[in-house]
Formats: sequence, C-alpha cells, structure tokens
Amino acid sequence: MSQAPPRAGLHWVRPQVRALQAYAVTNPRGLIKLDAMENPYRWPDELIQPWLEGLRQVAINRYPDPQATELKGWLRAVMKVPAAFDLLLGNGSDELIQLILLAVAAPGRTVLVPEPSFAMYRLLAVALGFNCIGVPLRAEDFALDQAAMVTAIRDHEPAVVFLAYPNNPTGNLWDPQQLCELIEDAPGLVVIDEAYVAFANASLMPELARYANLLVLRTVSKLGLAGLRLGFLIGSAPWLAELEKVRLPYNINVLTQASAQFALQHYSVLQGQVECIVRDRQYVLTRLRALPGVTAWPSCANFILFRSLRRPANAVFDGLCEAGILVKNLDGSHPLLANCLRVSIGLPAENAAFLEALAALV
Ligand SMILES: *Cc1c(COP(=O)(O)O)cnc(C)c1O
Repeated sequence: MSQAPPRAGLHWVRPQVRALQAYAVTNPRGLIKLDAMENPYRWPDELIQPWLEGLRQVAINRYPDPQATELKGWLRAVMKVPAAFDLLLGNGSDELIQLILLAVAAPGRTVLVPEPSFAMYRLLAVALGFNCIGVPLRAEDFALDQAAMVTAIRDHEPAVVFLAYPNNPTGNLWDPQQLCELIEDAPGLVVIDEAYVAFANASLMPELARYANLLVLRTVSKLGLAGLRLGFLIGSAPWLAELEKVRLPYNINVLTQASAQFALQHYSVLQGQVECIVRDRQYVLTRLRALPGVTAWPSCANFILFRSLRRPANAVFDGLCEAGILVKNLDGSHPLLANCLRVSIGLPAENAAFLEALAALV
C-alpha cells in the first residue's frame, strides 16, 4: 500500500477502520456463480408480467412509506411472526447488524462471535470500535465449544452475541439447548441470525417469548431476492423502539417494498425453488463425499463447505475458475478453514459442471 500524501488527511480515519480490509466480492465475469448463496432460479413468466405491472403504479417521485406498513403485514403473515413481537426492516440484514451495533456502541464494549462465522459481524463491530472476541468452533464438526462460549460470556460481558443458525460458512445448526443456555447467560443482546431458515427447518423464533434479550434476524436474500436488499429483525417492542431511532427513515425503497410484497404474495413459487435446492444439496453432498480428495460437511443451508485434502485450496479455486466456475475460497480466512472452499447449490446443470470440474482437480 503506498503512503498517501499528508494533505489527504487520512489520519482522521479511525485507526480501527484504517486497519480493516473492505468486504471483497470476486467479479463473476461470466462464470457459473456458486459463490454467494444466491437462489439460481428466476421467476416464471407468469410472475414477471404482473410484477412489472405492479411496478408501473409505484410513485417513484415520492418517498417510500417510512414504516413499510403493508410490507410488514405480509412479512408477518407469511413468515408467521408472533403478534406479540415487532418487526424492523433493513436494507439487507447486513444493515440491521450495523444498526444493532450502532445502537449499543460505546468505548470499551465487546461483541462476541463463535468463529468461523459470517464476516460482517466482526467487520462492523471493529469498524464501530468494539472489541471483537472470536471463540473458535470445534475443529471436527464446527459445533459450539460451549464451555469456551460460557467462559467468554462471563469474562467479557459482551454487549452483543451473534449466532448464525445455521452458521455460514459451515452450514451446520448448533444445539438449540446450548443456544438457550447462552441466551440465559448473556448480559446483553443475543442475535440469532436465521438467514438460511428456509433451508433448515429450524428456528429460535418461538424462544422470543422466553428471552427479552433475544432478537431474531432474517433476510429474503437467500430465499431468492438477493437483489432487493431486504432484511427484517424480530424482537420485543422496547428493544426495537430503541433500534428504530438509529434507522434511516427511508431505508427500504419503493421498488423493494412493492417487489417484496409481490413476491410474498407468491411465496409458494419461492418455496418450490427452495425444495429443489434442498433436494440438490443432498445430491451434491453425496457426490462430494465420494471424492477421495475431499472432506465435505453436511449442510442445513443452500451451500456446502468442503476441504481439499491433497491439493491446496488456491489451486482448486483457480482450476475451477478456469473451468468457468466461481466458488468461495475460504483458505486463510480462519485457521479452522485451511484448504476449505464453499459452494452454493446452483441449477442442476451448474452443480454437475462444478462436480465434474472438481473431480478432475482434487
Ligand atoms: C448472507 C448472510 C447475511 C446477509 O444477508 P443480506 O440480507 O443479504 O444482507 C446475513 N447473515 C448471514 C449469516 C448470511 O450468510
């Protein structure tokens, strides 16, 4: 990195921010895109037409409904949010992670995350000045190291604990009993991030009634609407009322509100796509496990984590790119992920192309 001239005044940037690396996304440049847990299916034509008709009516010259009341109603109904709890919408769940941290940020405070997990927790926590404690998962199966989690909660008294359920990039669900113990032990907020709930058949939403310090985070991104940028947070009214104060008033734009509402009215189409992805996940896992050069872990999400046992992950990643396939190379991102890569479940033909290319590389 070259030294910037003093006039630029970069010394004003907080040291924590200067030390960060921006969240990097590889340019897919026409590759088969299996790197970002997107739903590979498009909408059928019968949906495209009425959706575009609806967008015609949208008043693009007006600010959006700041409360997105109608959209919230649909989310509540379709996602079966208990009436006792409130909803807060974000421009992606990423924004909600930022907003939670913004509301509780203060010097000397701590955020706790089991790691490896979703990179944005640490990135945003560090950017906002938190001390971020990562508690390593168990190396063999990526389960929580419950004793280490309990000790870290006691020692560091974190303002927020982030728990992705299922976890990204490992794909597993943690023991819900252990999660409940951690929620009971935690002195601050516990955010259960259910970005992959549609693929997992497991949720801690019912536990909201038992724990006042629990928030459940969801997104429509992995469900098939990554381009819209819509996340939602479910929790008790007192907590959400505080978080509402740091939300930008028009964070959910008119096109997102109209499109998400339309998609929720046709939720069965997305559900059908999810069923295909879950079916193909089993197929891809079985095929990966049949490769002698690969260890692959079971997944409750729409991706699979695997390790290359003979060739370095970097070489496998490059070879896959040459074969026209983009996955996520996780080597170097955490000690437990040495030589690991993550593949999202794509269309059947995309999965087949990936498996064929990989078999020739490992
Ligand atoms: C993808 C992902 C998110 C971010 O989702 P957006 O709503 O697209 O911002 C949040 N949490 C986890 C665990 C994820 O994998």
